[in-house]
Amino acid sequence: MQADDNLLPFDVDAPRILYDLPHSNDAGPTTDQCDCACAAGLSIGQQPVVPSPDIAFSCATNNQLIPLKAQYHVLFRQNSNSIVLNHAALIMANHFHQPHQLADIPSTWPEAWGHKVVQNTLEQMVGLGLLVPHGFPKPMLTETPITLSAWLHITDRCNLRCAYCYLPHNRVDMSIETGRAAIDATFRSALAHGYQQVKLKYAGGEPILRFSVITALHDHAQTLANHYGLALEEIILSNGTLLTSKIVKTLQSLGLRLMISLDGLEDFHDRQRYYPNGRGSFADVKRGIELALAHNLMPDISITVSSRNAEGLPKLMEWILERDLPFSLNFYRDNDFSVTHNDLKFEEEQIIAGMRAAFKVIEADLPRRNLLPSLIDRANLATPHLHTCSVGHSYLVFDHLGQVHKCQMQMSKPVTTAKADDPLSLIAADKIGIQNISVDEKEDCRDCVWKYWCAGGCPLATYRATGRYDVKSPYCNIYKTLYPEAVRLEGLRLLKYADEKTAV
Ligand code: SF4
Ligand code: SF4
Repeated sequence: MQADDNLLPFDVDAPRILYDLPHSNDAGPTTDQCDCACAAGLSIGQQPVVPSPDIAFSCATNNQLIPLKAQYHVLFRQNSNSIVLNHAALIMANHFHQPHQLADIPSTWPEAWGHKVVQNTLEQMVGLGLLVPHGFPKPMLTETPITLSAWLHITDRCNLRCAYCYLPHNRVDMSIETGRAAIDATFRSALAHGYQQVKLKYAGGEPILRFSVITALHDHAQTLANHYGLALEEIILSNGTLLTSKIVKTLQSLGLRLMISLDGLEDFHDRQRYYPNGRGSFADVKRGIELALAHNLMPDISITVSSRNAEGLPKLMEWILERDLPFSLNFYRDNDFSVTHNDLKFEEEQIIAGMRAAFKVIEADLPRRNLLPSLIDRANLATPHLHTCSVGHSYLVFDHLGQVHKCQMQMSKPVTTAKADDPLSLIAADKIGIQNISVDEKEDCRDCVWKYWCAGGCPLATYRATGRYDVKSPYCNIYKTLYPEAVRLEGLRLLKYADEKTAV
């Protein structure tokens, strides 16, 4: 960690540290949505350290400083959330590159900033894990997911024919009975494995085509959740074209969330999301989003970035930020049904340029919410984690027949069915389908400073590109280029809203 060491305490403002309080040890079930199997957060198995005069502390390693503006830097840390430090706080942190007791500090600090401020800052640095007891064993990192998620494939039918869709669009639907059996099975596994929350994703195809089935399944899930004392979260993954006022009002009254896919404005969206006759769907999606907003239902926007729409990202971002919509940016992944659309594939430079242009727009209008969970493809830069997604660990995918799969993008070989006592155990034991291994077991990733935020990318995409699960993502270069820029944006956001955050 480097700072401007030539500055003396009297030359700079008093120490200041800005940070977001961590949401929870699960990847933000109430604030962050993804259209996949969201990653489970990593908890650091460390007893809270009580600052004591006898213990020597040192500054945690694996930190990277990224300059922000004026006297501020954002500090990216391998195991913990990013924090913003001003010069004075950096001077203090740098002092502990050599182990010192907390009382062993230069006399100029309290003279310049006051004894109480220095003391509080040191205690805060210990609390944030920036200063760690010297010589103590490294804390254990453990993934303890509290949410079991299930994808319910309500229908394979869809009124759109998007270029990157991975479905055959068979005319098949999930019956209410099958849906209930899938929900029963999800709760059985949740109880067997001690989960605290069940998350249901009503998906397809276009699930709104079967909206009455969704409301019936919601009633069933809510009854089970109440009975077993588990929390329930539900979201519909929709293309947004079929929303009506009645549907939006029902979603609100039932507490269901809504995710809508929007890939650009006008033609940038229409190039990859269109009806079977080729007509673009932008106008209808826009109407759907505006309808939801008019009823105070805030949809999550899912953006798929390909070579067709990368250039349109800045305008889309402006539109989204003007409406203060939560969003996630994900990269196109090829699949058996999209290979004929070869032009969706992108060059690294092209995607980096599009994302950078989008980041510039975000920088000019930074939203209040933390963007780190959803800014770059499958990475979650807000919560350290060992696995990119929860496939094989805390995720079940039920097809329309009630067969259980590991991932919605690989539904050709079911592992079991909703009749199994505990489908999650069978999914976890499967050695044939996707192997979602820890980032610590992936070549090239083991020594990467970003590993607990990236976790090596989508295992399925890596396997399609390399035939292996134990190697880095094919998007690794893009990730490594963009991650520091995303952390910088987070630092700027913390600064912008500093007055409302915890600060020394
Ligand atoms: S894919 Fe690349 S950026 Fe991600 S953890 Fe592996 S080496 Fe690091
Ligand atoms: S394997 Fe890839 S596509 Fe499947 S849930 Fe995980 S990140 Fe998503």
